[in-house]
Amino acid sequence: MKAREQHRRQTALLDWYDTHGRDLPWRLKNGVRPDPYRVWLSEIMLQQTTVATVGPYFRDFTARWPTVEALAAADLDSVLHAWQGLGYYARARNLHKCAGVVASEHRGRFPDDEPGLLKLPGIGPYTAAAIAAIAFNLRCAPVDGNIERVISRLMCIEAPPPGLRSLVADALAPLIPEGRPGDFVQAMMDLGASLCSPRAPQCPACPWAGMCGAMAAQKTGDLPKRPVKKPKPHRQGIAFWIENTDGAVLLRRRPEKGLLGGMMEFPSTDWREADWPLEEAFASAPVTTKWTALPGVVSHTFTHFHLHLTVVAANGCPVKQAGAIWSLPDRLGDHALPTVMKKIARHVDKCRT
Ligand code: SF4
Repeated sequence: MKAREQHRRQTALLDWYDTHGRDLPWRLKNGVRPDPYRVWLSEIMLQQTTVATVGPYFRDFTARWPTVEALAAADLDSVLHAWQGLGYYARARNLHKCAGVVASEHRGRFPDDEPGLLKLPGIGPYTAAAIAAIAFNLRCAPVDGNIERVISRLMCIEAPPPGLRSLVADALAPLIPEGRPGDFVQAMMDLGASLCSPRAPQCPACPWAGMCGAMAAQKTGDLPKRPVKKPKPHRQGIAFWIENTDGAVLLRRRPEKGLLGGMMEFPSTDWREADWPLEEAFASAPVTTKWTALPGVVSHTFTHFHLHLTVVAANGCPVKQAGAIWSLPDRLGDHALPTVMKKIARHVDKCRT
């Protein structure tokens, strides 16, 4: 690309950002560099989640834990509890772990370049590049779905995924200006979240109208090329709702690694694609008792599969298990329960009324 064309694109986007850039709780404008802790926190929260959802969580976290040291000193359960509703709990566990590493091994200061950031727990290439650009004003090129869409259209890149991402990164790197890389990256994020939308880009209002390859070629609706999506598998399981003689329900903590790691749950069988005959499921229950199968099914969709749980209930169980945690049904909100477990609690409640 000719240097003059590049400069025109840089200037047009930055001018637009100065006027139309979003006011976000973690963002500072007019050349003021934000606190890397706040940039990091927002980027972790924004993975797979919308800006509108993240806003209240960000305010809550920064009010409770205003510094990375404060977050590192918090206990994991309180962080998981505060994270409820943002999903993907592995991120919350890594968030806490990362805060611990920054506090203990970096004296509370985030590394100020991409390679250093990449060594921290929970920080992948996109997040490292975004933090390096926004917090440290480095010419780094974070490429997520939004930026991939904007740049593939701007440069009219017609390659399909997965090769598309590296082509976009190559095209983007020289476009990032020397003086304001952080603002430029955030401007692209804003453009992708507003005018250059997936379905109906508003090209006439775009700062890159007249400089955009896809617009000129009338291919905005065709780009970026999409891969064919594989259907998600369906898995089944049996969840055990076990009440003791006080009416409290048995909870257990999921393993730290893996899906919903470290969260609380009602005991259940494995979740598998084959059906669960009840007799087989009862053999893996935490207690041998008389079970009642509740009508209906609790369904929940995770990133990679749909889950369907049948709930069986028993009461008056004198369960004595190491590590067993009991909660009265109306105090379940005190525990870090993921959404699928809340659905089970609601299902039981509904079946009993
Ligand atoms: S002109 Fe249209 S397609 Fe091109 S970057 Fe702007 S909004 Fe996107």
